[in-house]
Amino acid sequence: MTEPSPPPEELHTRLEQWIRPELRSLAPYHVADASGCIKLDAMENPYPWPGTLTTAWLERLSSVELNRYPDPQGSAVKQALRRHFAIAEHHALLLGNGSDELILLLALLFGGTSHCLLAPEPGFVMYSLIARQAGMAYCGVALTEQFELDRTAMLAAIAERQPAVIFIAQPNNPTGNLFDPATLRAVIEAAPGVVVIDEAYCAFTDTQHLPLLDEFPHLLVMRTLSKIGLAGLRLGLLIGAPALIERLDSLRLPYNINSLTQASACFALEHASLLTEQSQQLRRERSRLFAALQSLPGITPYASEANFILLRVPAGEAPRLQRLLKARHRILIKCLDGGHPLLRDCLRITVGTPAENDALLDALTQLLCEPPSNA
Ligand SMILES: *Cc1c(COP(=O)(O)O)cnc(C)c1O
Repeated sequence: MTEPSPPPEELHTRLEQWIRPELRSLAPYHVADASGCIKLDAMENPYPWPGTLTTAWLERLSSVELNRYPDPQGSAVKQALRRHFAIAEHHALLLGNGSDELILLLALLFGGTSHCLLAPEPGFVMYSLIARQAGMAYCGVALTEQFELDRTAMLAAIAERQPAVIFIAQPNNPTGNLFDPATLRAVIEAAPGVVVIDEAYCAFTDTQHLPLLDEFPHLLVMRTLSKIGLAGLRLGLLIGAPALIERLDSLRLPYNINSLTQASACFALEHASLLTEQSQQLRRERSRLFAALQSLPGITPYASEANFILLRVPAGEAPRLQRLLKARHRILIKCLDGGHPLLRDCLRITVGTPAENDALLDALTQLLCEPPSNA
């Protein structure tokens, strides 16, 4: 004598009420379809591996036992990462399925609705998104017009909100700059909880913050392999004091780094000189692209220490340029206009290969020369 099941509409409504209220309006993270496009929207390394290296990599993968669970500690890959990033023995390491997973672990450990995650804005969107998903309060503090940390506003927000976690990306995404070191230090000193310096773009700058770990036990440095040519592997790492890393490790799902990622990362890091050379090449291209953008009419690029360049275009033009670059030229870039008041009329371009950058510059030149009414 089973009851007839309710119509789908009714069931949907019934289940909806059980969803955490603050999550009801969330939509899946959208990524543009990129097939056949020049992809300058996601800060990926554009260079593939030479064929001989791919062959050797596939051979290495053939010895991975897919019927077995991965090494839960990722010991071999941790060793390789320690060597590659010159991480001191007395600092501990936590691996994540991308840095995104590490942000989630931090939000879960330090979360709770009364605890706040604080970050300067405009910044990496995942900080606020993950804080919300984890049920943690979020506080964004506006940068200055020059995209510098607003010392007064930051210190006031820290004093008032008492954030459990502060995230600071260095270089910052999407602005590409490094903050004044003295202000950064003042923020770290004022923080009542944990501070994470997110060095996703450390391959593209000479400034790094690992030495600060010895001064500040409440500091963590986060890095990733995503921006140096291994975005598909999903491997991020958090570096810091063993006691703190151990707390986070207690929340980690047992086998979060799969066997293929572990084996591939080890292999790639054995050939790290290739990745380093590619990053150097991108830094040279960044200079060339910056100078070329500067010479375009009405375009103001902002100096960048990352593998992308933020630029301001003539008023009201950003969405049109982004749309037409895709529709006519099959070039994907990011339109940031509308995302934050400081990013009005702004676009973000990932540095690509010389040919990709030339295609972008040609297309942009064409679009800037035509009257906007043709859009
Ligand atoms: C791209 C990026 C990351 C990397 O995230 P993964 O999950 O490791 O790919 C982290 N932080 C910032 C600021 C980024 O721009």
